[in-house]
Amino acid sequence: MNSIKYVYSFGDKASEGNAGMKNLLGGKGANLAEMSLLGIPVPAGFTISTEACAHYYSFGREELIAILKDQVVAGVHNIESVMGGHFGDPTDPLLVSVRSGARVSMPGMMDTVLNLGLNDEVVEGLAMKMNNERAAWDSYRRFVQMYGDVVLGLKPAAKEDIDPFEAIIEALKAERGVHLDTDLSAADLQELTARFKRAIFSFTGKQFPTNPEDQLWGAIEAVFSSWMNDRAITYRRLNRIPEGWGTAVNVQAMVFGNLGNSSATGVAFSRDPSNGEDEFVGEYLINAQGEDVVAGTRTPQQITLVSSRRWSKLANVSEAERKSAFPSLEEVMPDIYAQLYAIQDRLEAHYKDMQDLEFTIQDGKLWLLQTRNGKRTGKAMVKIALDMWREGVLDDRTAVLRIDPVKLDELLHPIFDKKALAAATPMAHGLPASPGAASGQIVFFADEAAEWVKKGKKVILVRIETSPEDIQGMAAAEGILTTRGGMTSHAAVVARGMGKCCVSGAGTLHVDYHKRNVCVGNVCLQEGDWLSINGTDGTVYFDKLPTQNADLSGDLGDLMKIADKFARMRVRANADTPTDAAVALSFGAEGIGLCRTEHMFFEGDRIKLIREMILAPDTDGRKRALAKLLPIQRQDFEGIFRVMEGLPITIRFLDPPLHEFLPKEEESQRMMAKEMGVPYEQVKHKVEELSEVNPMMGLRGCRVGNIYPEITEMQTRAIIEAALNLKKHHDQDIIPEIMVPLVGSGLEFEAQAEVIHQTAEKVFAERKTRIDYRIGTMIEVPRAAIMAGQIALHADFFSFGTNDLTQLTYGFSRDDVADFLPAYLEKGLLKVDPFVTLDTEGVGYLVKLGTENGREAHPGLKVGICGEHGGDPESIEFCHKTGLDYVSCSPYRVPVAKLVAAQVVLKEQQKAVHA
Ligand code: PEP
Ligand code: MG
Repeated sequence: MNSIKYVYSFGDKASEGNAGMKNLLGGKGANLAEMSLLGIPVPAGFTISTEACAHYYSFGREELIAILKDQVVAGVHNIESVMGGHFGDPTDPLLVSVRSGARVSMPGMMDTVLNLGLNDEVVEGLAMKMNNERAAWDSYRRFVQMYGDVVLGLKPAAKEDIDPFEAIIEALKAERGVHLDTDLSAADLQELTARFKRAIFSFTGKQFPTNPEDQLWGAIEAVFSSWMNDRAITYRRLNRIPEGWGTAVNVQAMVFGNLGNSSATGVAFSRDPSNGEDEFVGEYLINAQGEDVVAGTRTPQQITLVSSRRWSKLANVSEAERKSAFPSLEEVMPDIYAQLYAIQDRLEAHYKDMQDLEFTIQDGKLWLLQTRNGKRTGKAMVKIALDMWREGVLDDRTAVLRIDPVKLDELLHPIFDKKALAAATPMAHGLPASPGAASGQIVFFADEAAEWVKKGKKVILVRIETSPEDIQGMAAAEGILTTRGGMTSHAAVVARGMGKCCVSGAGTLHVDYHKRNVCVGNVCLQEGDWLSINGTDGTVYFDKLPTQNADLSGDLGDLMKIADKFARMRVRANADTPTDAAVALSFGAEGIGLCRTEHMFFEGDRIKLIREMILAPDTDGRKRALAKLLPIQRQDFEGIFRVMEGLPITIRFLDPPLHEFLPKEEESQRMMAKEMGVPYEQVKHKVEELSEVNPMMGLRGCRVGNIYPEITEMQTRAIIEAALNLKKHHDQDIIPEIMVPLVGSGLEFEAQAEVIHQTAEKVFAERKTRIDYRIGTMIEVPRAAIMAGQIALHADFFSFGTNDLTQLTYGFSRDDVADFLPAYLEKGLLKVDPFVTLDTEGVGYLVKLGTENGREAHPGLKVGICGEHGGDPESIEFCHKTGLDYVSCSPYRVPVAKLVAAQVVLKEQQKAVHA
């Protein structure tokens, strides 16, 4: 017999586990144990560890039961001794809940069974014990419904169908002529239970188990196997949760929120999870069970009076109606409210983080069923961390580590363009479930949302309510709109976790899945029509509305200052224009790591000049065209230099193949010829001459400058003259960093460096003054990484262009990879898109090699990265570990990069302390 301990009991101010045992007991189990230790009223129970889950996957059900049996029986006895009653005993019944609980919360992804332990005899005993026949039968029918779904597998046959159990309920209500579930009598519920069982048998061929022990093992196994259901797998993939972790199972005595009007159930947050305000908020339902609040099938009431009044204003409910029909818990049960308030305060102080609580009130007694660090929006995450930091609860390090870099990104999400918004007519209001603004084409089914997005469309997923099956479609959509459900409904919780804009419970909207339309009164939109939602205030527009970037709060600035104390690597931005540079600066960029000069050539008349240069038959002709471009380039550089006020700026020379500046279509070529006053044939001939079979590996990068040094001369002159002008007119000392792209050998680089030096000297002689400048190169060809020692002898700095380095190391064309990447990801041939997250093993090996070789030849060589990976958290960590001096990324990713640069240092320090 296996002697490993798999079962950990808790209850009555004692427990075998604690909050530090999340890996073994899962988050829910560890926190239940901790609450019990703190003396908070928690129904007694036990947690079956995640190790048992691993055992289940290795050896299967029979083996699992064999090793767990004695421990589970002992666990059940412990519950009985603490709570009273006996599991399966009709004379004094005890019911249990069976819930999943992984290391990190995966809301709604895995299975739960409530009211377990009921059969036709036990329900009679329960009715006696509860002194409430209706509540007993309600518990039984709920149990059969959940067990029938989760363990026995009775699900809707098609996605258009409603849940089969709900269909049976609706049919019975129609027969009885009642509208609400609560109007059904005990006898009706008994009838429902019988119909449920018949439906289960006729659809699944399985008899409903009457023996409570069999029920318990069925539920335990179902929870373990739900770890591998599709939605859990998708959730893990999206959140990068390792499969090997497994889930724990929590078996806990049931307490009942459905025993009448002195019973209730609810969900609460110690601070507001949508905006981070330090305000206790939450929702509850009288005479209900926990799943009712989360399922979004009834409109929950607010816990506090303040939020109840706020809600009534939004919902257009009069104060008198609010008080009678939707009163707050604070008003209805002031004593319980006071206890709950004290508990949330205590738990927040204990965990030093915002808590998300589930509670049940059974006949006037409060029970806590769960506490966990609450999921929150990016805005709330920053506000809560910074508020707690100001309150002195969190120190600098903890505040920085509290921020999830991916969610920080949410703060930078768009809002609607204010002008367009002022002109738009709101068509409906729902709850502001997850902030942000989104516009997209309406899609009603999650799988189709994902397909439409694959085809390049922007969609809003519109549903009556969402369920965990919808996760993939929710992830793909721009935003989510539901007509049912509260702020703690599935759609709201999941969207918030994803940082996705969501409006929930927009009840005036009517969704018809069969007709595939959504209507307000007579105004209907069809699938594919445009719709916009504002997740910050809950408004729905039947329009396509443009979005604009969000304003940043002061908290972000404070956070960046704290992060800067720890980060070793500096963070620069990739910016090509003075406007981009200003945005970058406002986001905290410490310089520009990549200014792609070719982007300047596409604006206005410039394209004409560059085309003139390309068409020129000889060097003189090219020089004449370049002379016209010179003042424009100089002005561009002056603009950027001025904005950046002396911060380092790396300017890269022209990089793309020249044919990118010429039109491909005959019609456009004719237009160009006309504009330039040359024969069409000349343009056509030039396009043909420049055409390449493989342009990404053709005449581009430094090869252009080496073949046509006059281009390098012009660009050098523009940079040096701009810097001299700033010194002269604005007393700004600029040390330009000139960067040569796509170098593959020392010779290639030296040839360009020579042109740059000669040109600079010429300008200094003309101006009779000089400035400092640096010359460096991008390392984006594998050979450059290998030969870095040679190249570094003459270079002041390296910047890894990991976009091209990834392209050329993998041999994946940047422009064509999308054709096969999804299939590769699906087949597991790639774990992530290597153009998003650096392939640290392969491409990263070259980055490491290039850095080491470069620094060996040239001690103190400055090294950075300016490929897209410079804004990706995992890649930034790698850059830090490889000893890079800076990362450069898009302006909008600068805050994320700065945060990660600080976090990686803090994590290293934590590791060192623990070692
Ligand atoms: C790169 O290749 O990583 C790079 C930054 O240059 P570009 O994306 O302009 O080719
Ligand atoms: Mg490149």
